[in-house]
Amino acid sequence: MDLRERVASLMGRVRPELAELVAIRSVADPRQYPPEECARAAQWVMDAFAGVGFSDARLAEMADGSQAVVGSRPCPDPDAATVLLYAHYDVQPPLDEAAWRTPPFALTEVGGRWFGRGAADCKGNILVHLTALRALGDAVPVNLKLVVEGSEETTGALEGFVPGHADLLRADAILVCDSGNVAVGHPAVTVSLRGVVDVIVHVEALVSELHSGLFGGAAPDALAALIAMLATLRDARGNTTIPGLDNSQVWPGASYPAETFRMDAGVLDGVSLLGDGAVADMVWSRPAVTILGIDCPPVIGSAAAITPRASARLNLRVPPGTQTGDAAGALVAHLRAVAPWGVRVQAEIEAPGSPYLARTGGPAYQAIAAAMHEAYGRPMVMLGDGGSIPLCNVFADAYPDAELILMGVEEPLALIHAPNESVDPKEIAAMALTEALFLQRYAALRS
Ligand SMILES: [Zn+2]
Repeated sequence: MDLRERVASLMGRVRPELAELVAIRSVADPRQYPPEECARAAQWVMDAFAGVGFSDARLAEMADGSQAVVGSRPCPDPDAATVLLYAHYDVQPPLDEAAWRTPPFALTEVGGRWFGRGAADCKGNILVHLTALRALGDAVPVNLKLVVEGSEETTGALEGFVPGHADLLRADAILVCDSGNVAVGHPAVTVSLRGVVDVIVHVEALVSELHSGLFGGAAPDALAALIAMLATLRDARGNTTIPGLDNSQVWPGASYPAETFRMDAGVLDGVSLLGDGAVADMVWSRPAVTILGIDCPPVIGSAAAITPRASARLNLRVPPGTQTGDAAGALVAHLRAVAPWGVRVQAEIEAPGSPYLARTGGPAYQAIAAAMHEAYGRPMVMLGDGGSIPLCNVFADAYPDAELILMGVEEPLALIHAPNESVDPKEIAAMALTEALFLQRYAALRS
């Protein structure tokens, strides 16, 4: 049997195992779900990887009390390269259970896809690792290491663990399986992530509320001032316009078709997309500012009074090539510069996360491109992701020579983090074949 046939023959095991894992409500928040659920998921993962040769699989305690499964599987060749396999077993809460068409914690097939919380993010990727290793059997030509963390969706405690335990997870290539393809059957790796920082801006103009009839017209209105300031953050086309932040970069990899994006984002008919660039430029290569919240009187309960002070929380995403701290500084300087009427402006900058850009010239990228092409029958493309994965920066800092590959079964139809999350089993099979082929080809390129 060749590898493709071996993976196909293993898929009968994938569904019941994924169903077991999805049935464990491993939301890493003891206020919402009992911590025993995460403990059961950790045990499940530990046992499963012990079954594919990680004889030292064990639990490592993180600072937040969560447990990561770690382990290793040495290869007889002492000169073999080392590959770290990453995934996480915790999941997002189901959110609005009434919005689910199937029970969130019971893996259910509808139209060829398997629905359930975590079916794709990230339990489907755990099954990818297991199936790849089962398909290879004893013929794994590299040293393997493993980390499957248990609080990725909440505290991200592994980020704090890695620097102090660098040798435990040190590797030449790291497969971060918590991402996805362009579409089912269209293979991709994610090579660029935007950085993120939140800024809270406070505006103050008056000692207290004033009667809008007696004083309105001459008294400075803090809420009007805040709205005027926020309105300068985009131009009429929707481009983010903060002096000092380049908003003209162009994404060099695969495009993100506008029609696909409209569908993925649920943009209403007649409403246009923002910006002068193509979608990929706007979401992967350019800064974006989003107003997350405004503190001001709510409609119900509001009085005929001028608002003396108001605040807004802003979220700024910045592409690789820009320091997140510098970008936050530029945003605050701009808000101060455009504040009208001499109103008082104060700003707080919350903890920034850096952008990430993969180095794609090494043997691991060569091997993954060849493996994806063979597994899918189509060339691999390189995607960006508008979001942020701080762990990628932590790995890149701890292992500057390692090649990081971000991939997985979470294509757009998977609706990760939303109700009705699902996975396409064809993606699990194709990604498992990709991973098995990658391990073979990478070992061959390195020897
Ligand atoms: Zn995830």
